[in-house]
Amino acid sequence: MTSTTAGDARSTDTQWTDLKAHWQELADLGGIGSLLGWDQSTYLPSGAAAGRARQQSLLSRMVHARATDADYGRLLDAVQGRGDLSPAQTRMVALARKNFEEATRFPAEFVAAWSQHGGESYSAWTTARPDNDFTRMVPYLEKSLDFSRQAAAYFPEFGDPMDYFIDRSDEGMTAAQVGEVFSKLREALVPLADAVIGAAPPRTDFLHRHYPAATQLAFGEAVIRDYGYDFTRGRQDLTHHPFMTRLGGADVRITTRVKENDLGEALYSTLHEAGHALYEQGVSGEFLGTPIGGGVSAGVHESQSRLWENLVGRSRAFWAAYFGKFRDAFPEQLSDVSEDEMHRAVNTVARSLIRTDADELTYNLHVITRYELERELLGGTLAVRDLNDAWHAAYERNLGLRAPNDVNGALQDVHWYFGSIGGAFQGYTLGNVLSAQFYAAAEKANPGLEDDIARADFSRLHGWLRKHVYAPGGLYQPAELVERATGQPMTVEPYLKYLREKYGELYALS
Ligand SMILES: [Zn+2]
Repeated sequence: MTSTTAGDARSTDTQWTDLKAHWQELADLGGIGSLLGWDQSTYLPSGAAAGRARQQSLLSRMVHARATDADYGRLLDAVQGRGDLSPAQTRMVALARKNFEEATRFPAEFVAAWSQHGGESYSAWTTARPDNDFTRMVPYLEKSLDFSRQAAAYFPEFGDPMDYFIDRSDEGMTAAQVGEVFSKLREALVPLADAVIGAAPPRTDFLHRHYPAATQLAFGEAVIRDYGYDFTRGRQDLTHHPFMTRLGGADVRITTRVKENDLGEALYSTLHEAGHALYEQGVSGEFLGTPIGGGVSAGVHESQSRLWENLVGRSRAFWAAYFGKFRDAFPEQLSDVSEDEMHRAVNTVARSLIRTDADELTYNLHVITRYELERELLGGTLAVRDLNDAWHAAYERNLGLRAPNDVNGALQDVHWYFGSIGGAFQGYTLGNVLSAQFYAAAEKANPGLEDDIARADFSRLHGWLRKHVYAPGGLYQPAELVERATGQPMTVEPYLKYLREKYGELYALS
């Protein structure tokens, strides 16, 4: 039905206006919550934590009430039944429906019990970890697994519980698809990492000289200004764990951390978070305050942080552009260092036990290991009590290393200790895979892109990404976005080609 009477048209317009007002309110409450969280991680005085926790809890109750409001649900039903929505409106309503189901389908008692368990599990982990005692966490993990399976059972439209958890952060992806991508990657990465680690390591001594924090921060900010990060709609502050956050509307902020005896720390965390922020700052203004007014998935988001951090920031062209400026900033510390040595040093590959310390090449093996263990736990083929042994065996197989303790084994990451298991890690590696696919497409559309970078001119790269990846926000499902932007579905080939060429040349592999 396409024709309506004047009265219907007026009432349907009212429906749409009401819906948009409700979304704007949810987005603004979300932004206020982000502001409280940002402040807590940057400037909140330590004595003010209790009051802040109370404010955050009040705000989350207000958000929950509005997100699950019965009138809002009826409005969604009414609008969803209409045949006159544009593709963008249809997508907004579909995502709103997804969020509504996520917020309403669990019974209140289930949510309360699950969240209480999450708090207890996290608290137990904070002491089991320093005590190096995985065994203490076994009952908590068993309960987490049970809650996770129950949660997935409220969404029977997903056959495999893992599919439900993956879909929450990487919409439309399934465990089978992720598993296929990851096994192709592992097959290629294990021998490549072996070859690189067997070659002569680069010189890295100069990365650990004394570099004053203020100069490091100023340099990082100059680079991201060149990238296109808009400081009139954001800022950078210091924090313990770097992150990017949207405080509502156009305000997209980042944080970083700095070590005076580690040159890579501040620069690369700044470039990483700026990549996330360029994505958020680039979302089309008309979509802000709606369900499509932000990045579309964990994987696509991470593709942008990795693209600006690694494909650009660790490239030869990048150091051709910036090494001179860098040496001007640190003339004594870098007096005996060449541009080539700098480029090699920031691309050092080494086996390590810690995911967050891993280099570009071995990082994915840490992620794949966790993903496979999660999938086995959730699928019931691995018992929690055997998790730590399975972890060590997988590390020997994938990374050629065995942790001497539980701390660097299954107790390592916080992700499994908030009360839920599944879907926590795959986005990191999907992001790496997609970063190379997007970059290759940008390069194909803009011949000579590397020469631009060597002149610190990022306008064509940023322009292409804005148009094809950033502006659409959540308008398309991730898979459709990838296909529209690059002309093909997600594929590991551009990423493997990038790694083989880069590390083949750096480490003179044949
Ligand atoms: Zn990231």
